[in-house]
Amino acid sequence: MKIKFLGAAREVTGSKFLVTTDLNKRILLDCGMFQGKGLETDSMNRNLGFEPEEIDHVVLTHAHIDHSGLIPYMYRRGFRGSVVCTNATRDLCAIMLSDSGFIQEHDTYTFNKRRAKKGLPTVTPIYTQKDAVACMNQFIGVPCDMNFRIDDNIKVRFTSTGHMLGSGVANLQIIENGQIKRIAYTGDIGRPADSILAPPRPFPQADILITESTYGDRLHNRNEEAEEELLNVLIETCVHKRGKLIIPAFSVGRTQEVVYALNSFFNEGKLPRVDIYVDSPLAVNATSVFRVHSECFNDELQHVLHSDEDPFGFSQLFYITKQEDSKRLNDYKGPCVIISASGMMEAGRVKHHLANNISDPKNTVLAVGYCAPETLGARILGGASEVSIHGIVYPVKADIRRIESFSGHADYREMIDFLSCQVKEGVEKTFLVHGELETQKKYAEELRKAGFRNIEIPARGQEYSIL
Ligand SMILES: [Zn+2]
Repeated sequence: MKIKFLGAAREVTGSKFLVTTDLNKRILLDCGMFQGKGLETDSMNRNLGFEPEEIDHVVLTHAHIDHSGLIPYMYRRGFRGSVVCTNATRDLCAIMLSDSGFIQEHDTYTFNKRRAKKGLPTVTPIYTQKDAVACMNQFIGVPCDMNFRIDDNIKVRFTSTGHMLGSGVANLQIIENGQIKRIAYTGDIGRPADSILAPPRPFPQADILITESTYGDRLHNRNEEAEEELLNVLIETCVHKRGKLIIPAFSVGRTQEVVYALNSFFNEGKLPRVDIYVDSPLAVNATSVFRVHSECFNDELQHVLHSDEDPFGFSQLFYITKQEDSKRLNDYKGPCVIISASGMMEAGRVKHHLANNISDPKNTVLAVGYCAPETLGARILGGASEVSIHGIVYPVKADIRRIESFSGHADYREMIDFLSCQVKEGVEKTFLVHGELETQKKYAEELRKAGFRNIEIPARGQEYSIL
């Protein structure tokens, strides 16, 4: 068989790896969108590197858009195979892909308005909300820890990685020439002490390991320190400076994590009396999906659910879905907290809140997640003195802060601990994906020290034959 690396190769978005068996079955491991700005990223997304109708199955590790976001585009282009994932991933994709379709349409609409002013021809969105809704017919949700036969001679089993609700290692067993080949693709790896999710679990022995390397050269702080820091930034901004605290956060996962931390501070009487707004229709829907998949929660939260019916809600917290209510926040006088998507600040309502608030030194923009290079978030965090939002340039005067340990990704020690469930001598080859090249080189060194061998860092478009 062959494995071709079509994205997240020496970069962190666009996860997409094509496995072609000797019998010409084509299995796509994740189908993620490249995230970034402008026409170059758009063209990378449109050029998949294969014909969608030739793909038999997509095996999906989790619902993040940089792993799932091009499934509606594949569907639009003729893909009619199955998308196999965990039940929670399927439920999250139902809301997240639809939201992504809406964003594609909306962003294309505003982009076209600017092009029309310059007399340039209009462009079409890569896919629409309708495509995203239609592609859900192809999804098959399966429970974790269960072998599921997806084709003659091909089985998949998901084992939890604790990175996001429903995330799992895709453990594939492929029989070729009477021999079983075991491929484990970890997807993204979570942290052992996530405040909401159960920790990553050991996964079956693999012959071929494909694993992420986002934080392959870093060590995180503990989560409790992140939560204390969140409270400190909130007090500093809203109480001392009487400003607004803007927290760009993914609607799914990070928002619930921040809300759950604030909920705990509220219960402990530590939270200042300021209004907190979660401005994201997706976050509201995602919270409902969280509630029906408590099988993914850690023991502590399962226990909390018995006494606190709603650990994602308290009296100072307001969820906003309607656009008019979101716009009303522009005129809100006085301190408040606005948690809004997207986390990398590339899309969604947070761009409006940044435009309204980034030029006032009273305010703080607090990043609580990873921002890929070339994104608006990366530019802001990189210390840009001015940024362009929706085509208008704004000076950056607000305080810019970052809490990295809210990361959904394990650091290198946590990843190596997670991978230690493998008999290293049994792993023939390890491919590092989903990381920047310099980080990956350092991580490869750590993995070698830990006993892994034949470590490859594939470039985009590179294909390997697996014997
Ligand atoms: Zn992810």
